[in-house]
Amino acid sequence: MPDSNEGKLIVVSNAEPYKHVFGEGDQVRCLEVGGGLTTAMNPQMRKAGGLWIAYGRGEADFQVVDSAGKVMVPDFPETEPEEKYGLKRIDFESSVYENFYRGYANKILWPICHTFPTRADLKKERGYWKKGYLPANEKYAQAVLDAYRPGDTVWIHDYHLAILPGLIRDKIPEAKIGLFWHIPWAPWENFLKIPHDREIMESIMSADLFGLHVSDYVENFFRCVEKLGGRVDRDQGICELDRYSLKVGAHPLGVNYPFFAGADTEKKEEFRQEYGAEEIILGVDRQDYSKCIPERIRGFEEFLLRYPDYQEKVTLIQRTPESRTEIEEYQIEQDDINREISAFNGKHGTHQWVPIKLFWEGIPQEELIGEYRAADVALITPGIDGMNLVAKEFVAANERPKALILSEFTGSNRQLEGAITVNPYDKEEVAEAIKNALEMEEKEKKDRWDQMRRVVREQDLPTWAEDFLTDLNKEIV
Ligand code: UDP
Repeated sequence: MPDSNEGKLIVVSNAEPYKHVFGEGDQVRCLEVGGGLTTAMNPQMRKAGGLWIAYGRGEADFQVVDSAGKVMVPDFPETEPEEKYGLKRIDFESSVYENFYRGYANKILWPICHTFPTRADLKKERGYWKKGYLPANEKYAQAVLDAYRPGDTVWIHDYHLAILPGLIRDKIPEAKIGLFWHIPWAPWENFLKIPHDREIMESIMSADLFGLHVSDYVENFFRCVEKLGGRVDRDQGICELDRYSLKVGAHPLGVNYPFFAGADTEKKEEFRQEYGAEEIILGVDRQDYSKCIPERIRGFEEFLLRYPDYQEKVTLIQRTPESRTEIEEYQIEQDDINREISAFNGKHGTHQWVPIKLFWEGIPQEELIGEYRAADVALITPGIDGMNLVAKEFVAANERPKALILSEFTGSNRQLEGAITVNPYDKEEVAEAIKNALEMEEKEKKDRWDQMRRVVREQDLPTWAEDFLTDLNKEIV
């Protein structure tokens, strides 16, 4: 990692690590915003300082910043000044943010990268690019330019900021720039459907290092470079397009293993009594069409139909925190899921037993650990997912071997070989996987669990951040 005499680390992401909110009597309070990125970067930022640039979405965020939009965080009374770092908050006019975040990022890049092109709103005349993506990225770029000093390292995160490397490179040719992409990279047949594919590719090419979760996404990216006329050296992990040369590597995101493994919480008895179930199957997914909740329900139904002895013995607890509720498609999906689950429970349930219990509320990770431990089986079946941290957290949280059913279309499935792998669209396969998970011999369960625990422990969150920064700081050969 860069140290103070090499220059500071500038992290840029859309989500901020801390937000400020109004507490009692209009007192302003600082809260940590959960999520992998904060957990990954916080120890380093707190130790070595540096600057984090992000969109300020807390209701009191701009009450506490200085004239440059900066606040020192964590802004907790007990934090020593030397453990704080700078957070520069960016604000946007609502129409810019609308076109940037809900528009270009989540109606174009998200569905395209998750290989759902028919869900993408690709019409150029919408203006998502001109009225949102471009001006928003320009604002982030200005914040980086204001903060940058020779020797600094700039680490940009995710698909919201794909054109930021190019905007910075134009102004600071010598800057060291890394970009990590937290979602899948689509096959070229999908990616090149994006109206501004060339602009995005050229910007990414102007970084020094581009990180993706797994080698399949790296290969998809390389194929896009080749399709645009570039050259790829797969042995070296380097590609060239026009005047740019870029290093590309697989850096699978990990979880904070000690946090999930260590906490002392157990909920199983409470769960059993509440749901009248002997066995608990758990699904945890932020609400998104890519998570394939309706397909999961069909797989569970097929299981109950094939193996009726399990009726009244097994309950599926599905925790699905709402997200992007401002986007109409997400609201419609929520209504569909509600309808489907109540029909399911009406059809299969009895008065002592509700087969599927659905929660739309998100809970803090400390509490989620209790649910991970209460479950006998985790059923994690997205249609596609860049990594899927829930699968890794379930493994980290449980010392006692359990069974994990995991979609073959998740990044984590490439690492978690001990999982029972399924195609989420194949309800018969999901049904058989549930039976297999519930009836697996202890010896097999343990062997599979040991492999997964080892990977999750060894390739954890700090390792991911260190590896990426070490790679970024190596010279390109
Ligand atoms: N999560 C949470 N509370 C909840 C449900 C989920 O904090 O009630 C967290 C979970 O611990 C995980 C993240 O949300 O870290 C979801 O990450 P994942 O990679 O599985 O999916 P994503 O939401 O990034 O698509």
